[in-house]
Amino acid sequence: MEERFERFHPDMEAFHHGMTTRPCFVCEIVAGVNELPQHFVYEDDEAVAFLDAYPRAYGYTLVAPKEQREQVTGDFSMEEYLDLQRLVYRVTEAVREEVGAELMYLYTFGSNQGGAHVHWHVVPLPPGVPYEDQQGAWAGWSKGVLKIPREEMASLAARIGARIG
Ligand SMILES: [Zn+2]
Repeated sequence: MEERFERFHPDMEAFHHGMTTRPCFVCEIVAGVNELPQHFVYEDDEAVAFLDAYPRAYGYTLVAPKEQREQVTGDFSMEEYLDLQRLVYRVTEAVREEVGAELMYLYTFGSNQGGAHVHWHVVPLPPGVPYEDQQGAWAGWSKGVLKIPREEMASLAARIGARIG
């Protein structure tokens, strides 16, 4: 499958060292103190959505509550959880339409050793990806990360944001 952007392999040892030793990256992004350029697609009083700074797919977006919550269900009331899911739905539909995805994947991951702040991965699968590279492999790191120029990330975030409304 031909891709519009080249891929590169970030230093995963440094990445995981950062994840397990530094303050929560989601809290940093919410506070505007993360050193990586951030591209928000949505923000309200409770939640944010932003492009993953290490996109393994074009349109890879994260949705998170602003407050540190760690249990994906247990740290929310039913109402809070469903409010977040309404946002996940809107973001997922916006990404799907913007990038022309064949399927959309939704994941949550996390580790108490780093990256515990609940966030949903909204991952578009474009047409033409071989079967063996789909599903878990598509969100994984082994293929490397798309080298998307900063101005393209900004433009993509604005287009997704406009679809969320
Ligand atoms: Zn946090």
